Amino acid sequence: MSTVNAGGWRPEMGSAQDDAAPRVTNSGDRALMLEEALIFELREPGTTGVDFDDAVGEPLAGLGKFLRREQAALPGLSEPETVRHYTRLSRQNYAIDLGPFPLGSCTMKHNPRLNEKVARMAGFADLHPLAPQQATRGALEVINELAHWLITLTGMHGVAMTPKAGAHGELCGVLCIKAALAARGDTRNVMLVPESAHGTNPATAAFAGFTIENIPATAEGRVDLAALTARLGPDVAGVMITNPNTCGLFERDMKVISDAVHAAGGYVYCDGANFNAIVGKVRPGDLGIDAMHINLHKTFSTPHGGGGPGSGPVVLSEALAPFGPLPFTARQADGSVLLIEEEDAAAAHPYSFGRMAAFHGQMGMFTRALAYILSHGADGLARVAEDAVLNANYVLRSLDSDLDAPFGFSGPCMHEALFSDAGLADGFTTLDIAKGLIDEGFHPMTVYFPLVVHGAMLVEPTETESKAGLDRFIASLRSLATRAKAGDEDLKSAPHFAPRRRLDETQAARKPVLVWKGDAPA
Ligand SMILES: *Cc1c(COP(=O)(O)O)cnc(C)c1O
Repeated sequence: MSTVNAGGWRPEMGSAQDDAAPRVTNSGDRALMLEEALIFELREPGTTGVDFDDAVGEPLAGLGKFLRREQAALPGLSEPETVRHYTRLSRQNYAIDLGPFPLGSCTMKHNPRLNEKVARMAGFADLHPLAPQQATRGALEVINELAHWLITLTGMHGVAMTPKAGAHGELCGVLCIKAALAARGDTRNVMLVPESAHGTNPATAAFAGFTIENIPATAEGRVDLAALTARLGPDVAGVMITNPNTCGLFERDMKVISDAVHAAGGYVYCDGANFNAIVGKVRPGDLGIDAMHINLHKTFSTPHGGGGPGSGPVVLSEALAPFGPLPFTARQADGSVLLIEEEDAAAAHPYSFGRMAAFHGQMGMFTRALAYILSHGADGLARVAEDAVLNANYVLRSLDSDLDAPFGFSGPCMHEALFSDAGLADGFTTLDIAKGLIDEGFHPMTVYFPLVVHGAMLVEPTETESKAGLDRFIASLRSLATRAKAGDEDLKSAPHFAPRRRLDETQAARKPVLVWKGDAPA
């Protein structure tokens, strides 16, 4: 009998970690653990992956002055070298297809392959955004169908599909509020934002010209209702509240808050980035919300870790829908779906605040999200929320005696488990735990957010992690908590096994080396 640890490793497999002094190879690579230099260090000046004919004759009249005088400082690599460089680098990346991505507030769930198949169908993927409407009927149907399901799932009145990310959606919603106030000649301009808000909320409101005021949180991690209602008045344009909030808790007073804000003449913006926890269970429209963005790239799969496209449609109440952006899709009496653009707007949508984007939104994200919604169905989407919440509570309760859980006392969490660095040995911090997770083969959780909790660690397992997978993650986190409480100095210099060791994060952020400063090729 061999013992098998949670990761599937057996003693007879051996381990590089057995070696007291790691052996050094001539290449620097260690089997499939590859070292890779910067592309500029690999360069062979004069090498190229493409053969161009030498320029023949005179440059086009008058354009000669635009010709390069010196050679560009391009790396110079053959095509296979270029492909290998980026493929070797990509092998040093962590990805959702390698393991869990427990980043709180990000909902990094498995992306079903069916979505990808649908998104790559040539009829969608190869469409040109300037193609005439008669040639894009199928795509318009997809946008309209997705819009229908977003409205249905949220119980709202309308939806703006064009915003390209959550923060862009926030701007859309807040501009709707601004337009609605302007339409009634109201100059109020204070936006109330709870102190636990995502940084994009105050940034968005400030960008749209509002003055921000913070609303404190209660000891149990929710918006302070008394403080909020006390601040309402004729200068308050609205509130921006995240629900479930960034402490991983449901704002139970949401309806009371909405009613109070409306009674005071303001509007309610809900940051819906955490919709995954309540999809199919709670309809924001029933909570009196006027505008809410939905991160398609969170709730409806297609995690956005690689900086890939996002999509942030904004659902709108009856009060705000008339002010939504152009263009939008609308089903006509004959059953067809048309795109309503500026030339139609005077009749169809006279109060629109304008346009958010050049075209109609992120088509690839629309097809993926619709495939996700239709393949889950109404019962499946409710299960998504239930399982996401179950998984987060499993993580919370499995670790709440190993790590401080600041709001553990206030009952079950929603889809994220929040821990803090309280109780670690002197000098040990959240960063040490996060770096230790890298050695354990996991992407770290979200750290130092929300700001209302000192040394926050926000873990969002999502519904797509199995119990066995969660147990592996929990065991690793528990071992790191034990080491950090025991003052294990080795943890302070983690990661030890990653391609790069602990970076100077301030230097990396403030003085990144992004430009090749070496000699230009001869
Ligand atoms: C992710 C997130 C946002 C911003 O969404 P982007 O798509 O990254 O712009 C806003 N609020 C919360 C709570 C989030 O988690």
